[in-house]
Amino acid sequence: MVGQDRAVAELSAAATDPTAMTHAWLFTGPPGSGRSVAARAFAAALQCPYNGCGQCQACRTVMAGTHSDVREVVPEGLSISVSEMRALVQIAARRPSSGRWQIVVIADADRLTEGASNALLKAVEEPSERTVFLLCAPSDHPDDVPVTIRSRCRLVPLRTPPPDAIADVLASRDGIDPETAAWAASVCGGHVGRARRLARDDDARRRREQVLRIPLSLRGFGEVFAAADDLIGSAEAEAVDMTGSRNQAEREALATAMGAGGTGKGVAAAQRGAKAAERELERKQKSRATRTQRDALDRALVDLAGFYRDVLAVRVGASVAATHPDRAADAQRAASSWTPESTLIRLEAVLGCREALESNVKPRIAVEAMLTVLYRGA
Ligand SMILES: [Zn+2]
Repeated sequence: MVGQDRAVAELSAAATDPTAMTHAWLFTGPPGSGRSVAARAFAAALQCPYNGCGQCQACRTVMAGTHSDVREVVPEGLSISVSEMRALVQIAARRPSSGRWQIVVIADADRLTEGASNALLKAVEEPSERTVFLLCAPSDHPDDVPVTIRSRCRLVPLRTPPPDAIADVLASRDGIDPETAAWAASVCGGHVGRARRLARDDDARRRREQVLRIPLSLRGFGEVFAAADDLIGSAEAEAVDMTGSRNQAEREALATAMGAGGTGKGVAAAQRGAKAAERELERKQKSRATRTQRDALDRALVDLAGFYRDVLAVRVGASVAATHPDRAADAQRAASSWTPESTLIRLEAVLGCREALESNVKPRIAVEAMLTVLYRGA
């Protein structure tokens, strides 16, 4: 956990004194502050006989995601379904099989459907003695976790880690050279995972460059449509990169499980079952691809919004740290030709596009509308 001294102190105290245990915790923090890492480390500390030594079997299996009494739910589609949540709540009520607690980690509690939250609420209201729920939600949407659940949780707010703490961890733990680490930490918006990716992955760096070139490239509708193609195409490519090999492996595993060929009684029924399983897998993979694409596009929009914020800061002479210190020359150039009003309109267009995508507007429509405003500044 990078730069989270207060949260670490509070969680360590809770792990060493189980009599003061709370059965439901809510980790909030900006994207990249390490909510799920914090929840997982806390789960390890609770299962560890030495309160989180980091070395023993319990610590290692929890951190690797294979401990039998720690379940992690990462909604891969756009939300967690009621049936998934009911199954989980049932497991959570069991006694721990080997560990000290039965722990359920819910990575994106803001993506629970209403039905799923209701199923969870019952369990949080009347928890079994050895059950602990660890919920995580981004701090810009804590309201998306229903207040009925939130009010029963102990809150663990995480903060945006400062750039020097991020640079330190990239250099010392990941072995990245100090210069690259410092650069990545300065442009990652406080997101440790993003800093690591930018430091290591040429494609990620190239995509960021491409996005940040957009504001000064828009000289007409030709560029507007070209930029829309770039933004959407690169989000699609990123989603394929991240899910392609996994999809293939899942299809092969399913084909093997269903067997191939065969004759005689029962074959027709088995084939119908296989068809249904295939359709279910396709549905799951499609939902995962949509979410991965949406997340990639959102990351690009966050970078864009940061640029307009920098321009605005230069224009009004605010002394705040730049979001993209390596694009200071571009921000200066834009600030000398745009009015503060038109810069603000552009910034709002980017934020509006993020909201539109969140409420399921088709990406191309939302992105083209945004780019039109970015071009005109009105
Ligand atoms: Zn341990």
